[in-house]
Amino acid sequence: MSEPQRKYIVLLGVPGAGKGTQAKLLKEKLGLPHISTGDIFRFNLTHETELGRLAQSYMSKGNLVPDEVTIRMVADRLQQADCDRGAIMDGFPRNLEQAVAFDAMTAPYGGVYRVPLIHIEDEEAMRRITGRRVCRTCGAVYHIDFNPPRRAGVCDIDGGELYQRDDDKPATVRNRLYVYYKQTSPLVGYYFAKHLLARVDGEQPIDAVHEALMANLTD
Ligand code: ADP
Ligand code: ADP
Repeated sequence: MSEPQRKYIVLLGVPGAGKGTQAKLLKEKLGLPHISTGDIFRFNLTHETELGRLAQSYMSKGNLVPDEVTIRMVADRLQQADCDRGAIMDGFPRNLEQAVAFDAMTAPYGGVYRVPLIHIEDEEAMRRITGRRVCRTCGAVYHIDFNPPRRAGVCDIDGGELYQRDDDKPATVRNRLYVYYKQTSPLVGYYFAKHLLARVDGEQPIDAVHEALMANLTD
């Protein structure tokens, strides 16, 4: 007997495109868990686990954590009960090896459902990433100009301290964009060929991007 179909949605886009922001909105609407490999690595970093120590040296330079580690981590996460209807993937897969592994993991449930590509220009990515601030306790994401908190430096949701990620400083951001074009952008062609890609203009207000994504995901 085959397994029931699940909705595995893969959000693609350069660092800063708005994947995390949109994934949080989609999670509310679609009732699917938001799986951010970057968030899982940062959680492990904060809690000084072995995985965190391993990931740190790659993340601080803006390079990818080795596939073997990342793929196993995602496979484990997908086994958890909240993923029994699918998941919104943010930051994974990030290269062809990961995409092939993800296809194998999801194949019993109908494979990848759709791949929205949130498109923004590189200059906009630089502005967004260098102005990004994250809540130390709940992970909520703000921008000092485009999406500011009510009180500077303080999270609207839980009052936590807002900080700038180490890898969001300009020197590392350039390498992250380079890594995106070299390793992640081939996935655009990979999913296009599978008829799964849906392009969305990411340079609209957050609500408008959300509407465009919903239109693509609910037809
Ligand atoms: P990603 O997960 O793709 O790296 P984020 O969701 O963290 O991107 O967003 C990057 C930064 O841009 C954050 O500071 C966020 O508040 C801001 N941002 C997200 N979407 C928009 C948008 N549509 N317009 C302006 N700023 C945005
Ligand atoms: P952004 O949302 O700005 O694109 P992420 O939070 O997704 O950044 O990723 C931060 C860092 O975590 C990456 O630069 C990389 O070092 C590591 N990372 C996240 N996802 C992956 C992945 N799928 N494979 C390898 N490394 C990853």
